[in-house]
Amino acid sequence: MRAILDDRQRAHDPKHFMANGARLANPEQPRRIEVLKAGAEAAGCRFEAPQDHGLGPIAALHSAEYLVFLQTIHERWSRIEGASDEVIPNIHPDRRTASYPRSAVGQAGFHQADTSCPIAAGTWQAAYWSAQSAIEGADLLSSGEQAAYVLSRPPGHHAFADLAGGFCFLNNSGIAAERLLRAGKRPAILDVDVHHGNGTQGIFYERADVLTVSLHADPERFYPFFWGHGAERGEGAGRGCNLNLPLARGTGDDDYLNTLRTAFEHIRAFGTDVLIVALGLDAYEKDPLKGLAVTTPGFNRIGSAIAKLGLPTLLVQEGGYLSDELGQNLTSFLRGFQDA
Ligand SMILES: [Zn+2]
Repeated sequence: MRAILDDRQRAHDPKHFMANGARLANPEQPRRIEVLKAGAEAAGCRFEAPQDHGLGPIAALHSAEYLVFLQTIHERWSRIEGASDEVIPNIHPDRRTASYPRSAVGQAGFHQADTSCPIAAGTWQAAYWSAQSAIEGADLLSSGEQAAYVLSRPPGHHAFADLAGGFCFLNNSGIAAERLLRAGKRPAILDVDVHHGNGTQGIFYERADVLTVSLHADPERFYPFFWGHGAERGEGAGRGCNLNLPLARGTGDDDYLNTLRTAFEHIRAFGTDVLIVALGLDAYEKDPLKGLAVTTPGFNRIGSAIAKLGLPTLLVQEGGYLSDELGQNLTSFLRGFQDA
């Protein structure tokens, strides 16, 4: 299978995030690239670099204001006396007015939902090439490829149109879906990351032209807490075009695969002709973020089940953090997908 990766994605090397009030090492490390790349190559993927498709396909989903912020905030932040090396917000205006702050501190609060998406000198470059990789993958499918794997890192599914969060800056899966939509396709996004794809849901929530489906650990007691509940079905024209399938903490392979069938019913009923899989591997039983209990052979079964839908499919990497088996889990998924 053809696979896409750009080496400039390594430029984002976040140091910290806050968990339960403690300052911990940020798990979204550039070393994930090596591990995931080796895992994909073990399943027969051949990597190529993307072309530069410019800002247009990114700005199709993200606001110009937000893109200016991502490109300029680190430099402006570093002019503040005593500021940290990384841009980390210390204020979060959950209930917003129409006004937009001019200060770097205010804008960081406006555009960063939490502390897990620190912005340093290389962040924009890495996020840009992560998104370009997803666009390239979408174009491969438009030109007749049946499947492709995109090693997008930093990941994207927690990023809204104007908001970073949860290690994500640009919504790679969503950008790929929009690209395919504009090429005349009818895309669905199936998010199998252990966390709800809240940014993706938010971007398409009032739209009927992209179906969004997410299986994830129940957000009652798990990130992202405020989104991902079963009652969130879309609004306006998008009502019924968003499906959340929250799973009890610790759900294993069999129950996961059963729930996946419900997702497939909706994907078929939507008339989907191209599928984007937001491929998180953090549903793994030993993932450091500990939400669900999918096993390494379980990923093989999930990959196989998705392939049997028979749709042209773009696999876009989302989460999945460093454990001894991260690469093996990707290999297992991709082998299951290709063997079916
Ligand atoms: Zn995740």
